[in-house]
Amino acid sequence: MSRFSATLFSGKRYAVVGLGKNGLPAALGLRAMGADVVAWDDNPGARAGAEGLELRDPVEGAFDFDALVLSPGIPHRLPKPHPAAQRAMAAGVPILSDVELLFQAVRASGSRARFAGITGTNGKSTTTALLAHILERGGVPVAAGANLGPAALSLPLLPQDGVYVLEMSSYMLERLASIRFDAAAMLNLSADHIDRHGDMAGYAVAKRAIFDRQAADDLAVIGVDDAGSRDMAAWLETRPARVVRVSGAEVPLAAGAALPGAHNAQNAAAATAMARYFGVSDEVIAAGLLSYPGLPHRQQRIVTIDGVTFVNDSKATNADAAEVALVCYDRLIWIAGGTAKEGGIESLVPLFPRIARALLIGRDAPELAATLTRHGVPFDMAETLEAAVPAAFAAAKAADAPIVLLSPACASWDQFTGYDQRGDRFAELAHALEHHTLHAGGV
Ligand code: ADP
Repeated sequence: MSRFSATLFSGKRYAVVGLGKNGLPAALGLRAMGADVVAWDDNPGARAGAEGLELRDPVEGAFDFDALVLSPGIPHRLPKPHPAAQRAMAAGVPILSDVELLFQAVRASGSRARFAGITGTNGKSTTTALLAHILERGGVPVAAGANLGPAALSLPLLPQDGVYVLEMSSYMLERLASIRFDAAAMLNLSADHIDRHGDMAGYAVAKRAIFDRQAADDLAVIGVDDAGSRDMAAWLETRPARVVRVSGAEVPLAAGAALPGAHNAQNAAAATAMARYFGVSDEVIAAGLLSYPGLPHRQQRIVTIDGVTFVNDSKATNADAAEVALVCYDRLIWIAGGTAKEGGIESLVPLFPRIARALLIGRDAPELAATLTRHGVPFDMAETLEAAVPAAFAAAKAADAPIVLLSPACASWDQFTGYDQRGDRFAELAHALEHHTLHAGGV
């Protein structure tokens, strides 16, 4: 592994707009490759973190760039194009994601390192981390990141036999030009981010782009557990790449403790198909599934107090993600709420008999409460996580439920900086309860 040459992109000019966790490394990375970079963020706070970069709003003045690198969070189409995107489109300047520029940089460096891309509504990070873990165990030089971090343009230059394992959001997939994934996976498709893609069909088209430019020697892994994915599987049969269908009904090569539930069986099947494609033996893959340590905030067991286990599934930001966690437990106390997605928690109704009591937090608690009320699920409006965690513990003891599950089925932006802050706070509060219970002499 090494660094990219400091003159690789000499003479190129890029505008980088949005200096968050992707944009800032993109601006710094492109500059380190010798490019001229104009960087901007509409938020002065984000600009303050970009010291040493040429800070200027590219909307002002001539738009003479080779590309506009727009943060995944900034729209170029729906609900409304950002002014920089409008300028780029009017000037015929391509709007690219950092992943596309990573690919260009790798090829311009003469490396034939291969690329694996993973997308889907849920399971992207798990499958990305799992595949990287398996490849590492197989002795393959690996760099993993993109959407889950580290950002694409902070990854190193890999040698010829290396593999980049990249988690691709639908936003990133809309901004590709030349990257071809040797192995690409689309795990599942459910309503999410519809504001940005117009409708389900638009979202599916964005996700499908992970297979663009694939050729006969390439691998296309496709989930078949939902209707949208099955449609895409049928479409893939008309394309040149070899298709492998993956389902949560499959039995994995090995049952990893950090991979509970059918949804993880699907993730394991996808990672297995891709690892085989990159030449790893089934024996090494099985060992990798067993030793995979898991990621925080995805059904992460935090602590068990008086027989009640606190599970942090803060990453479940939509109902489908919460569903796969809820099915793992027969009787639980559920902490949910935040900014609800379209459809709220209606799709979870069949799982309501498992919920002994719900504690609701965040902006859309009333919407969730209405659904729970219609189906007779007892709940409290806890409003905050600080109130919800001790109340959930008390409810678990009163109802003899062994699990307190934070699986909010909602985004976190109304109360937190992100799902990770929400999950960290949940863990802190659970640990505080543990101390409190110990000091009180237990029960
Ligand atoms: P992503 O990166 O796509 O958000 P993660 O791997 O971080 O996905 O998992 C997020 C949550 O989504 C998990 O906590 C779990 O509840 C759910 N999930 C994971 N894998 C799948 C899958 N294959 N199908 C459905 N839901 C899944």
